[in-house]
Formats: sequence, C-alpha cells, structure tokens
Amino acid sequence: MTLTEKILARAAGKARVQAGENVWVNADVLMTHDVCGPGTIGVFKREFGANAKVWDRTRVVIIPDHYIFTADSNSNRNVNVLRDFVREQGIEYFYDVIEDPNGSWKFDPARGQLARQYGSHYAGVCHSALPQKGHTRPGEVLFGTDSHTCTAGAFNEFATGIGNTDAGFVLGTGKLLLKVPETMHFRLEGRLQPGVMAKDIILHIIGEIGFDGATYRAMQFDGSGVAGLSMDDRMTIANMAIEAGGKNGIFPFDARTAEYVDNRTRLNGTKQRYDPVEADADQRFVYELVVDLDRLEPTVACHPDPGQRNQARELEGLKLDRAYIGSCTGGKTSDFVEFARIVRGRQVAIDTFGVPATPEIVHDLQTTRWGGQTIWEILRASGVQMTENAGCAACLGGPVDTFGRMNTPLKCISATNRNFPGRMGHKESQVFLASPATVAASALTGKITDPRAFL
Ligand code: SF4
Repeated sequence: MTLTEKILARAAGKARVQAGENVWVNADVLMTHDVCGPGTIGVFKREFGANAKVWDRTRVVIIPDHYIFTADSNSNRNVNVLRDFVREQGIEYFYDVIEDPNGSWKFDPARGQLARQYGSHYAGVCHSALPQKGHTRPGEVLFGTDSHTCTAGAFNEFATGIGNTDAGFVLGTGKLLLKVPETMHFRLEGRLQPGVMAKDIILHIIGEIGFDGATYRAMQFDGSGVAGLSMDDRMTIANMAIEAGGKNGIFPFDARTAEYVDNRTRLNGTKQRYDPVEADADQRFVYELVVDLDRLEPTVACHPDPGQRNQARELEGLKLDRAYIGSCTGGKTSDFVEFARIVRGRQVAIDTFGVPATPEIVHDLQTTRWGGQTIWEILRASGVQMTENAGCAACLGGPVDTFGRMNTPLKCISATNRNFPGRMGHKESQVFLASPATVAASALTGKITDPRAFL
C-alpha cells in the first residue's frame, strides 16, 4: 500500500484497502474556520438536533482566519458565531481573535490595516496555525472545511478538505465515508539551486499534469530530494496538491518531521503520541514522475489557472502593477526571509503587500536581526507594506476593504496558491503565481523577473 492507503486502512480498522474502495474512516481532527464554520454548525444542528454535542470536543479545532480584518459586519459576526458554539460545546481548541471569551469581535477601521488588532489567542491562517499549535501528527486523519487542508500532508498524515455537509456529519459522528484515492508518485531527486524554491517544484509539477491532473488522487512526494526540504518547503508543496485537483498530498516521515511535531506538540500541550506510516515495497501508482530538483528554474503560473506554467525568464518584461507575499503557501517565516534577502537595500517599484500567515511569523520577522535591522524593518525600508494582522487577507479577495485586495483590474505577482479569475478581488485582474524569491525580484523591477539576477 501507498502512504495514503496505509493511513486510510488504519483509520478504517482494516488490514488493507485499495484504490476505489469506499471505507468509513475515523477522524483524528476536524478543523473549521470563520467562513465555513457557521455553515458547518448549522448542518450539525439541523441533522443532530439543537442540543446535540460534538463527537469529541478535544478533536475539534476552530481557527478564525479568513475575513477577519474587515469592517464587514457579517464577517465579524461569523467569528462571534464560532465563539458561541465553542462555549456551548466546551471545545478545547479555539484560536479566538479577541481576548475575552464572552466578548464580541469588531474590527476597527480607524486603527488602520497595519497595526495588530488581535489578542493573544489568535493563531492566523489555519493551515499554518495547525502545525504551529501542535495539531498535525504523522499517521493521522485530518479533515478541514478548507481545500488547502492538504497542507498537513507534509507531516505524513492524510489531510483533506471537505464541505460543510460532510463536516457537519463528522462533528456529529467523528466518521466519514471516503473513496480511497489512487496514488500518483512524484519522486524528487537532487537539490534545489540558489534562487529556486519549493514553490517552483509544485508549480513545475502542476504544469506537467495540469490543474485537473490529479483530480481525486493522492499525490505522494518522496525520493532522496525530500531530505533537503525543510518542513516549510514540504508544506508549500503539499498545500498546492489541490491546485491539481488532488485529494491529498503526502510526504514520508523522517527525523525532520519528528523534530517539528515533537517540538510543537510539547510546546502547546497537545497530544504527543503518533504512529507514522511507511509505504510498502509493493505500493502501486497510477502515474510516476521523477523531478530533478537541480534542473528546476524559477517558475511562474500565469493567469488564469495554476497549470499555466512558464519559466520566469521566459516571461521577463511582462509588466506588473502589484506584488503580494503572504498566505498559507507563501507567508511563512522562511518565505519572508528569502524575499528579504532579495529586496534588502533596494526599493520596490510597484505596490507590494506583505501578510505573514500567523502572529508567530510576525514575531519572528520583528525579532530576527540581520546586522542592525530586523527582517520586518528591512522589508519596510524596501517599501513593502507589511501588516501585523496575520491572516488570509487578499489571498481570496475578501470584502472590499481587505488589505491588498485588487479592487481594479490589476496584474499581480503573488506568492499565494490560486489564480483563477477573481481570486484576489476584481474579476478582470490577473494573478501570476510564483515563489517568494520571484515575487521579490519582480517587485523590484515592476516586471516578471528571474530572481537569480539579484543573487
Ligand atoms: S491563505 Fe489563502 S489559500 Fe490559505 S487558507 Fe487562507 S484563503 Fe485559503
């Protein structure tokens, strides 16, 4: 069996499963957020009754992160709906925007978009917050009401996005009926060269198979090249499995996985026991691709879908209006570090927005010093508009007052993960997906630029 089959077999209480088989799977964790949480709660109450209790209050993780820093009252209310449900159910893990468990969230536009408006519990973008807060464990099954839940496959777990109806069912029962996906095999060999990042690996792969090339399939990433990838790198790759239609993305377990997970579960007092899976020698794949990391170049997915792959140097000169770094794909500390390496001592030529994925990343950037400056200061000095309000921000457009949202038909190069029409705001805007390094170089020139020119 493949990694995915091994986990699903275990979660279904079976010795073996095979692709195409329908199995009842036990959930280890169910995650929801402010956009889908209220709908999920509505389904749960409708189907299980107004007084029903969730199947396990210690396995439900609720992370408001999407439409938070907006004056839109419906969006603010969604956070309050989550808080009421958490109180009613005694849910253990709720990363509230505000301090007071009996309070009410209201964004204050008068304080502006840049200065922090959240309390000490807030955790930022769910897919980055889940591992940071110790909720991702090898061998487990994670369901989330968000398509990029697949990010957690970086930690050798089966993680997939589900809809509100399925999530309402999981809330009530802790189970879900799943068809075991076929597995596609991506063997990573070699080492990334300077200026080339994990984002380039996944953009390359999606370019090979197309934006629907992995529809309802598991994408297994392994091979000797994985050892050279950090956990952040693996998260970037697994995060975008869904951009090829994948059911999940998954990596093998190694010492790096253990170090990260052990540290984070200990730090946060979450469950520390886990049981990783290893693939069998006889695992079967429906597709195989070897990716030679040494030969990859900075890559860009052009408008209007993540499969429109080009090399950055082939697009040199394509004029841009805006650059954006942030999201669960490109808003990690390591992403901002690579970005800062390129813009340090230089000035961006176009409007450039920076949105760290989590408050912890804001803290990292504001406390890590290079010479006499913090990374945050380096970015600000280069003209990057950095917000402390970590979250999804303009990655998915959001209400019109969302930081970095494209309200006119602009062309934007972005470290995010999705570029279908209208994704970051205006339906005639265009989004070009690239690594933080390529976004940084392009921000400096105002045109798509190969970052190796600045190394
Ligand atoms: S950062 Fe973007 S892709 Fe990630 S969860 Fe938020 S909206 Fe979705």
